[in-house]
Amino acid sequence: MAIERTLSIIKPDATRRNLTGKINAKFEEAGLRIVAQKRIHLSKAQAGVFYAVHKDRPFYDELCDFMASEPVVVQVLEGEGAVMKNREVMGATNPAEAEAGTVRAEFALSIGENSVHGSDAPETAAVEIAYFFSGLELVG
Ligand code: ADP
Ligand code: MG
Repeated sequence: MAIERTLSIIKPDATRRNLTGKINAKFEEAGLRIVAQKRIHLSKAQAGVFYAVHKDRPFYDELCDFMASEPVVVQVLEGEGAVMKNREVMGATNPAEAEAGTVRAEFALSIGENSVHGSDAPETAAVEIAYFFSGLELVG
């Protein structure tokens, strides 16, 4: 399998509860390397552009408010099959359905406040990484 990069976000419910290190330990234990990282506070408009794919969903407004509510950590994870590996470590969107040991099973508060974002395909990963990072900031 090829070396890939994927965008990861540690969401406000997790930064608020000081869980950044515990979550990143799971990614690193799975063999993913953090090759770019920054802590930012998104505006609602910036969150809205990031999640534009969901703009017609009933939870869109609530999702954008949540993502802009407190700081997030945006980061790029690199490794073999990084896109799917990250999704495996994250667990299902709804923490009630997430496998034991996953980030969302252990830390998520609800289907909305579910601690982490991860790109869903290599194509979306490329777009999402470019939204937050310049090439110079990716240090593999
Ligand atoms: P994922 O983050 O697992 O890729 P989606 O792309 O389907 O999930 O949804 C994006 C984000 O929108 C979710 O991580 C979650 O924060 C929020 N979300 C999804 N479904 C719901 C829902 N039914 N109610 C509230 N928030 C939701
Ligand atoms: Mg998604």
